[in-house]
Amino acid sequence: MQDIMDLNLLIRSCMDCELHKLRNNTVPGSGSLEPQIMFIGEGPGYHEDRGGKPFSGSAGQFLDELLESIELTREDVFITNMIKCRAPDNRDPRENEMQSCSKYLDRQIELINPKLIVTLGRFSTAKFIKFNKITSIRGKVVAVDGRFILPIMHPASGLYKSQWKYPIMADFKKIPGIMLQPRPRKVEPTQQMSML
Ligand code: URA
Repeated sequence: MQDIMDLNLLIRSCMDCELHKLRNNTVPGSGSLEPQIMFIGEGPGYHEDRGGKPFSGSAGQFLDELLESIELTREDVFITNMIKCRAPDNRDPRENEMQSCSKYLDRQIELINPKLIVTLGRFSTAKFIKFNKITSIRGKVVAVDGRFILPIMHPASGLYKSQWKYPIMADFKKIPGIMLQPRPRKVEPTQQMSML
């Protein structure tokens, strides 16, 4: 069976969108291979592209502090992004780039099978939840496809807009309580139809 290491090799050689032309390194993801919690950000920035590790700049430092506040480290969780290559000038990821990378992210989710996915920012949140404003759904846990999704503002927004720092910290504090809950039941499509 293909495992995370095989998948990393595929990601490293990917040339499916234009971003591969500009990259120094792909950034597949890092952390525990059997975690119960997965974090999904937007995409690599300058430092991540240089080192190949997600969240290695200042947003990553804040993420480390947030993890520490709930007595976790990066080794306890898996951290990845919507796109695995840096977008020029750190612009937002484009729809076609996220679409192109989704086969890797979907497989990571399938292989790791986390009980909780914490979505960092609007792009990864939109993969799982329909919303108008991230500010209106942040911190509200939902069950999707047999796992919990906790949308949180992107850690970088806590650095650039100080009013978001404490809401992000408060949302993080919900994680231990969520992990005490039993895994939500996966609702099969046939059951969903009969509930209509
Ligand atoms: N670094 C990452 O790896 N992802 C982000 O979304 C931001 C910084």
